[in-house]
Amino acid sequence: MSAVSPLRPGTASILAVGSELLGTTRLDTNSLYLTGRLEALGISVVRKACVGDGWGDLLAEIPLALSRAPLLVVTGGLGPTDDDRTKEAVAKVFGRALVRDEALLLGLRERFRRRGFEMPKVNEKQADVIEGAVILANTRGSAPGFLVAAGGTVVLLPGVPHEMKAMWVDAVEPLLARGGAPGLHRRTLKIAAVPESVVETLVKPVYAAYPEVPFTILAAPGEVQLQFAARGTPEEATRVLDRIESDFHKALAGEIFGRDEDTLEEVAGKLLRAKSQSLALAESCTGGQLAGRVTDVPGSSDYFLGAAVTYANAAKADLVGVSTATLERHGAVSEETAREMALGARKRFGATIGLSTTGIAGPGGGTPEKPVGTVHIALDAADGTRLHKRLLLPGERSLIRRWTTSTALGMLRKHLLGLADGARR
Ligand code: AMP
Ligand code: MG
Repeated sequence: MSAVSPLRPGTASILAVGSELLGTTRLDTNSLYLTGRLEALGISVVRKACVGDGWGDLLAEIPLALSRAPLLVVTGGLGPTDDDRTKEAVAKVFGRALVRDEALLLGLRERFRRRGFEMPKVNEKQADVIEGAVILANTRGSAPGFLVAAGGTVVLLPGVPHEMKAMWVDAVEPLLARGGAPGLHRRTLKIAAVPESVVETLVKPVYAAYPEVPFTILAAPGEVQLQFAARGTPEEATRVLDRIESDFHKALAGEIFGRDEDTLEEVAGKLLRAKSQSLALAESCTGGQLAGRVTDVPGSSDYFLGAAVTYANAAKADLVGVSTATLERHGAVSEETAREMALGARKRFGATIGLSTTGIAGPGGGTPEKPVGTVHIALDAADGTRLHKRLLLPGERSLIRRWTTSTALGMLRKHLLGLADGARR
């Protein structure tokens, strides 16, 4: 075992507990979050594992993980049901008893009562604490966490990601962060609706200017992410990361919409609010997904008025006033239809900006002139701005629809920033 103090370890293991994580539908994402937080504290993750809820697997894995690093962070299996056994297993490994904590029990009962339920008997075991452990309050749920220090240190956190994150930041980091050791600090910059290879070409000179910095470029649907990291105290690292970020901004002239947790819909929404603008949509090939993204943002009612999902030609004509002549002459998937949809949505909802999508998401419906992936996006603003973009998108249906919403939100963002995007009329 390491000679470093267990509360300021240099390395850690992570263990994700839950039989669902060994199946085909759930992925362990908790360890990704924890790795980033540990790295920032200067603690490297040297091992991670996933085990089911079986008693034997837990008893075998806990000592093994602790033999590899002085700190073990476990998530999951703290719930009230019979298959939640993490706490029991850790108590057994350390030879500690479980003791019912009356104050915790009262708190749990009260939590249920506030929601109008009598606490089921099974929840009582969530008030059992590992003898001698530090109890970590759960501000988002019912299961408390624990920190047990005995030779190695084990931190037990709930499996539900938002409960786990809150407990880590509020209760665990204050115990680990003492000493402010230099750590690894990561940053992600995000670019919407530009192909990865185009971004890569533009940013190459920035990579070359910082040979010691690890850079990664990642493609997500409708988005490219640039990731990089710097080592040091948070202040030192921030200085380096800020300098690199500013170089990327110069290289990509207006294309970077945000960093880390930012989303494009959030960024566009903030601009709409700041500029006192309002938005209305007319969607065909995206079928409401654009409205879905816009309204994912809390407070979007400040600027979002509504959307018409105009899938059929009749809906395009009746709901947002696309002329029959336009539909007949140019078709539903055309620049003219997209422009009339954007204008119609703006007028119909009384918004300052109308945005529209129409295209062929496939897999059927393509023609030689309009193959699958042909998409038209238009923006019509009360200030007279009229923009249009024609895309020819590769990939399958869901990817085409995601790219379309990202391109539309990207156009909106650039319009609000006064940056050129799309063909004007
Ligand atoms: P548990 O604390 O084991 O009752 O887990 C509650 C729920 O949290 C599970 O049903 C999963 O949906 C989620 N969960 C548990 N472990 C993880 C993990 N490692 N990563 C992501 N989600 C998880
Ligand atoms: Mg579980």
